[in-house]
Amino acid sequence: MPREDQTLPLRLSRRQALAGGLCLCCLPSLGFAASLEVTEIAPGVFMRHGRDEDASATNLDAIANIGFIVGNDSVMVTDSGGSLADGRWLRKVIRQKTQKPIKYVVLSHVHPDHAFGAGAFLEDKPTFIGHAQLPEALSDRGAYYRKGLADIIGESNVGPVVMPTHTIAKNDKIDLGNRLITFHAHGPAHTTSDLSMVDHGSGLLLPADLLFVHRCPALDGSLTGWLKEIDVLKAMKIPKAVPGHGPMTVSFDAASADLVRYLTVLRDGVRAEIKNNGSIQHAINTVGQSEKQNWKLFEDYNARNVTEAYKELEWE
Ligand SMILES: [Zn+2]
Repeated sequence: MPREDQTLPLRLSRRQALAGGLCLCCLPSLGFAASLEVTEIAPGVFMRHGRDEDASATNLDAIANIGFIVGNDSVMVTDSGGSLADGRWLRKVIRQKTQKPIKYVVLSHVHPDHAFGAGAFLEDKPTFIGHAQLPEALSDRGAYYRKGLADIIGESNVGPVVMPTHTIAKNDKIDLGNRLITFHAHGPAHTTSDLSMVDHGSGLLLPADLLFVHRCPALDGSLTGWLKEIDVLKAMKIPKAVPGHGPMTVSFDAASADLVRYLTVLRDGVRAEIKNNGSIQHAINTVGQSEKQNWKLFEDYNARNVTEAYKELEWE
């Protein structure tokens, strides 16, 4: 567990604010950047807690847990953020902590809240690491995601679609300087391009959105595949994990048990609807309701999840 003195919030200080010509009563109006911070959750591992919200003009899509890991020689960005503005904020924070080169930027999967910060790191000329299926997924959806995000947060805040420059089909590893990071490319689960990481320096598992905590999971790959890939992660026997959404560190077993329970309710409920010739609309109205109290943004995501699950399971 991190010690108390390893917690290093990087909010705008009073001195910085005043030097910038801002009186303290103006601080709330700084909005986006002033309300964000990173925490050193383990030696050399810095994470930012994403807000449990959907993308908005206020949060600039800073809704995922993102951060960076510092080795003896270089820095790896675990996920770049939800927009160019979010990525620029993260890059600035990295430069406040270390001048080591940012050699690797991970794109954990196709979703905008994890991938659109990448443009902020182009000047560092890092290796952009992604799943072997990520180029195809970004080609299919990148422009669509970009337009949707621009409509919400403004064209100048979005940034470009950045493609991975190094893809992983199964397993791979990098060394940040006496700090090994291993990667595993998963089968279709949360999406079709999920990449998980293990930081061997801290012993932390970073499964990105293969692990949702408190926030309603979003199904965009395969329901049965996701349950299978959770077993793959479980078999790694790593006790602490950094979920893509939720608290910055959790017990993997406890957190994944909640996720498995939700996905199982979804799977069994949708299978029963299909067996009884229930319509998708009937399934949307009924399946998963016992989980309603357990997840933030449930109303926004469960209906979509039921629809995705129905389309997948009716072909079983
Ligand atoms: Zn996602």
